[in-house]
Amino acid sequence: MNRKQEMLRAIPKIDEVLEDRRLLVFFKEAPRRLQVESVREAIASLRKKILDGVYDEDESYIPDLDLLIEGIKARLSEKMGASLRRTVNATGVVLHTNLGRARLSEEACQRVWETACNYSTLEYNLKKGERGSRHDHVEKIIKKITGAESAMVVNNNAAATMICLAAIAFNREVIVSRGELVEIGGSFRIPEIMAQSGIILKEIGTTNKTKLEDYKNAIGDNTAALLKVHTSNYRIVGFTQDAKLQELVALGLEKNIPVIYDMGSGLMTNLMDCGIDEPTVADSLATGIDVILFSGDKLLGGPQGGIIAGKKEYIEKMKSHPLARVLRVDKMTLAAMEATFTQYLDMEKAKETIPVLKMLTVSYEKLLQQAKDMAEALKNRETSWEFQIEDSFAKVGGGSAPTIELKGASIAVKGPMAVEKLERILRKQSIPIISRLSKGKLYLDMRTLNQEEREVIVETLVNIDSTEFKG
Ligand SMILES: *Cc1c(COP(=O)(O)O)cnc(C)c1O
Repeated sequence: MNRKQEMLRAIPKIDEVLEDRRLLVFFKEAPRRLQVESVREAIASLRKKILDGVYDEDESYIPDLDLLIEGIKARLSEKMGASLRRTVNATGVVLHTNLGRARLSEEACQRVWETACNYSTLEYNLKKGERGSRHDHVEKIIKKITGAESAMVVNNNAAATMICLAAIAFNREVIVSRGELVEIGGSFRIPEIMAQSGIILKEIGTTNKTKLEDYKNAIGDNTAALLKVHTSNYRIVGFTQDAKLQELVALGLEKNIPVIYDMGSGLMTNLMDCGIDEPTVADSLATGIDVILFSGDKLLGGPQGGIIAGKKEYIEKMKSHPLARVLRVDKMTLAAMEATFTQYLDMEKAKETIPVLKMLTVSYEKLLQQAKDMAEALKNRETSWEFQIEDSFAKVGGGSAPTIELKGASIAVKGPMAVEKLERILRKQSIPIISRLSKGKLYLDMRTLNQEEREVIVETLVNIDSTEFKG
């Protein structure tokens, strides 16, 4: 028998490993099929290493069973872990689409939890003791906060655009400026959504200039609506012109054609102080526009959703359209949406209680202090890293206010290992930490971190330090 065969024979059988004393405690909570899968995979991997001759140089080799056990534990942990996990967002980008956009307020989370694990009044009218409508819950509060005559919520803003166009303009023309045929995050392109809604897109004007005259000239017998789209994630600057919302509303009124505005971000309160010059929902509605559409999880700071607000005549058409059922939101979304809008009853307080607003409006001084405190905490722990406090200029993200840079503070980390490696290690923690690399340094931006997360980062950095450099 040659050495390879000898080694292969030394590998224990699956059944034996499953009974291994060292795995008993570890296996307690795990489903049997994951236990077996982990053992089988770890043994297969060991077998492959031997066959590949990885150990041939080592004369005294017998398969390392401790290593096998560790391998099984690692595999099982990974299988038991969720795929959708919380992360710490240290990028400073408040509405980071890849990291879930808006984080919800405590109140919203509380309401989601309550609604999810109990029966609710989702479609039940308590006063009458009979069937109710799921639209009612959020409609009341949205009307109150925005001043709209009517409102409904669908799955997201893309869905809102689709149902709105399908209900108002099916088989007819909708006029849009060439400067507003936007693409948002790859799969949302205005011309494509319009085609899917079954309407005919009538492009007018040019990329940089579209005048009110262009809309006037394009209106014909088959015109069903005028659509204005907020250029959320880009700006056209220089020699430009577009028709103002008020002008379009006046034109629509004169010609008896509804005007729809896809606002993108649902900014509810004036954030001019931090340079965000997005139009607010209330301002847009005050022009007398027929329908506006906006996202739930952008500047509004709520759950994913598409809010449709405006004239009752049109919203009723959407509520009774077959797509309403296709695009409807579930009770958890409604709970979070109602809670978020309710917080806007007090606009000033909302800037404290809605995380998105809080992170956008926090002062530079406060962020700087947080960076100093964190650097201090790290220095007290004697790590091998070098920490510097640097000003940062974060993007709002989520296709909102693309030209704004929010001045904040960050900690720049340099250390005994390549920052690319540190970035990777941070990303692979049990609570993954997402950081930003730039010019040979790793940045941790204070803007998107709360107290608990800053502590998680400190502990993690200290921990990496001791496992990587002190054995
Ligand atoms: C973000 C955005 C959308 C898409 O919104 P979702 O809620 O992500 O579907 C549509 N239109 C505009 C103008 C946007 O900014």
